[in-house]
Amino acid sequence: MLCNKETLKELFKKDEAIKYLKPIRGTPPYWQSSQKDIFAMIRQLGVPTFFCSFSSADFRWSEIVNTILKQQGDMRNTENMTWDEKCKVLCSNPVTAARMFNNRFNTFLKDVIMSEAEPIGKIIDYFYRVEFQQRGSPHTHCLFWVENAPKYGEDDNEEVMSFIDKYVTCEIPDEKVDKELHDIVMAVHQHSKNHSKTCKKKGTVCRFNFPRPPSTKTFISEPSKPDKDTKKDEKVAKEILSGLWKVIKEHENENLDVSEIFNKSGLTQESFEKYFRFITNRNTVVLKREPNEIYTNQYNPHLLRAWNANMDIQYILDAFSCVVYIISYISKSERELGLLLQQTKNEAEEGNLNAQQTMKKIGTSYLHHREVSAQEAVFRVTGLRLRECSRKVEFIPVGENPCRMSIPLKRP
Ligand SMILES: [Zn+2]
Repeated sequence: MLCNKETLKELFKKDEAIKYLKPIRGTPPYWQSSQKDIFAMIRQLGVPTFFCSFSSADFRWSEIVNTILKQQGDMRNTENMTWDEKCKVLCSNPVTAARMFNNRFNTFLKDVIMSEAEPIGKIIDYFYRVEFQQRGSPHTHCLFWVENAPKYGEDDNEEVMSFIDKYVTCEIPDEKVDKELHDIVMAVHQHSKNHSKTCKKKGTVCRFNFPRPPSTKTFISEPSKPDKDTKKDEKVAKEILSGLWKVIKEHENENLDVSEIFNKSGLTQESFEKYFRFITNRNTVVLKREPNEIYTNQYNPHLLRAWNANMDIQYILDAFSCVVYIISYISKSERELGLLLQQTKNEAEEGNLNAQQTMKKIGTSYLHHREVSAQEAVFRVTGLRLRECSRKVEFIPVGENPCRMSIPLKRP
């Protein structure tokens, strides 16, 4: 087929020409095929219940640096080391660092998340992928399907909200009651009041929406239906809510609770929810939150305590937002590369190169343009998993309307 010029042209046209990169882990065609697998799972299992992320905390987890020190016969201990010194040790052995993250996450998944204790409910299926931050440490993004979880849009909203309250919170624990969790939340779960560079990426002050508004209870904010007065209402809502932020700031150090803050702003929980709906663009979960927790990211207490590093957990409200999450998280760094490969392909086509030359050019273009951190390189070279899933997706092309089926790896 490749010797035939016309067939070759067709292959290029249909994008088949870069598909030979599919088995190469981490390439755009590789992630594209993962995406299809997830869509197959969603089609078969329905919308996943939770979207979770787990970041790495190389220095909080003192065992990583201590292990590397031990390997090198170094008698120092992390406790007496400066940040710079610890950095040097960590960089000196990215293999151990990457492998320890990998082991920690897989143990955490198996022995905590999927355990009989069911910290976020009984998991029936999952998908996760490993991604790497700019400075090179890994983190994971996961989807979990929970048995008998209420479904938004099908079940009662009250039921969904009490399900969320059971597993997700942004509460700062009482230091006297639970010092351990209090300290973790204060250390790794406070969004910076100055925000970071990544906050402003999309032209907003904070794309993670911090600070988040206080509320006496958890509710699902659905955009209110437009009517004649909506424009005006939206303006009023914005004014009233910015009044709320002013009141919060004025009484920052007085330890007032939500009701007192609402009182001072001329709001009630009911009117707050009403105004909040006017400025809501898409269905959003607003968690129960005290005024001193407006910079606290949500978490699950059991998972955060065990993981001991930043995490995120979100109840997935609808298929659309779920797909958006997956696509934007799965292909962030690969998107540019996809364009690059496309361009190389086009150039090759125009230059009338033969098949072998074209493939070579595309391969080279991939190998030379993807920047990877040391830990990411370790993951790829040593065959650590970049993704894993409770199902294997088998493509069975039958009939006029072929679709992807996912089958469980283990019979329940
Ligand atoms: Zn921010």
